[in-house]
Amino acid sequence: MVEFPQISVVAPLYNEVQSLPELVRRIQQVLDDLGETWELLLVDDGSTDGSTELIMKLAQENLHIRPIIFARNFGHQLAVTAGLDYSCGKAVIIIDADLQDPPEVMKDLIEKWHEGYEVVYAVRTEREGESWLKLTTASLFYRIIYRITDVKIPLDSGDFRLLDRCVVEVLKQMRERHRFLRGMSVWVGFKQIGVPYRRAARFAGKTKYPFRKMFKFAFDAITSFSYLPLQMATYLGFISAGLSILAIPIVIILRQSGSQAFFGQATTLIAVLFLGGVQLISLGILGEYIGRIYDEAKGRPLYIVRYPIDNKFNENR
Ligand code: UDP
Ligand code: MG
Repeated sequence: MVEFPQISVVAPLYNEVQSLPELVRRIQQVLDDLGETWELLLVDDGSTDGSTELIMKLAQENLHIRPIIFARNFGHQLAVTAGLDYSCGKAVIIIDADLQDPPEVMKDLIEKWHEGYEVVYAVRTEREGESWLKLTTASLFYRIIYRITDVKIPLDSGDFRLLDRCVVEVLKQMRERHRFLRGMSVWVGFKQIGVPYRRAARFAGKTKYPFRKMFKFAFDAITSFSYLPLQMATYLGFISAGLSILAIPIVIILRQSGSQAFFGQATTLIAVLFLGGVQLISLGILGEYIGRIYDEAKGRPLYIVRYPIDNKFNENR
């Protein structure tokens, strides 16, 4: 019978060739110290900087490593999803490949798991080496999400977390395309707990989340867990209808008393532009949701793996 490892570590990576050897070394050190059986799934999300070749080389030298090579860049959340799909450990730890999530924190996560918790998320108490813009937008993002969604996603927790096998099996059934895994892993329930940690600076290279990707990610998060943007159109509609009902008698009275207020094109133009703007924004929001429905309806695979991982690599071993 095949012996499944105790711990699966999933590290999604996109052009992280410089961090890779250090990542493997530190993860190996922590897990060997603990005496756990483990595997490391390195999910290559369409790297073009030689990470792919390095992963294949590392996998031949180190039997703990299982490579998953994507056919192109599918994005961080889908890379993590692939890692969860292929993992076989009794607990799965998701960790960034740029060493911002210190592998040593895995000890705390595993300890809580042994105490019986099924989702152990790491909470960032401090963040080193991040720009002012990233810190403010991230902090704002977590607080808005907390406010407007029904799932209470813990503030300042990222994807760095441990999931028990029973949680992973539920997540594997949730095949939505635009994913916000940290929300999904709260939504499922189970026994959850947070562990504080200091988020380090990147080991090497630059962030792979430029502003554009961050914005899309935030929108995916909100649309996956909230209808509030859709309801905004209704609220705005009621507000502007209410205002105009109030305005009608006021204007009539002013006109009859001979006032010059509300004459001229400017007032009309501003009102028309304002309403036009509100309508276009509402339409755009509607479009975002419809686009997501369309994506789901197409039912394409979430990601494409270039090699059937284990077959190809086991041959080489
Ligand atoms: N990543 C990925 N695919 C992408 C973008 C990022 O697999 O399209 C990986 C990246 O290599 C890193 C992790 O996801 O291991 C987190 O990304 P990053 O460090 O760039 O984000 P930040 O920490 O700046 O938010
Ligand atoms: Mg990072």
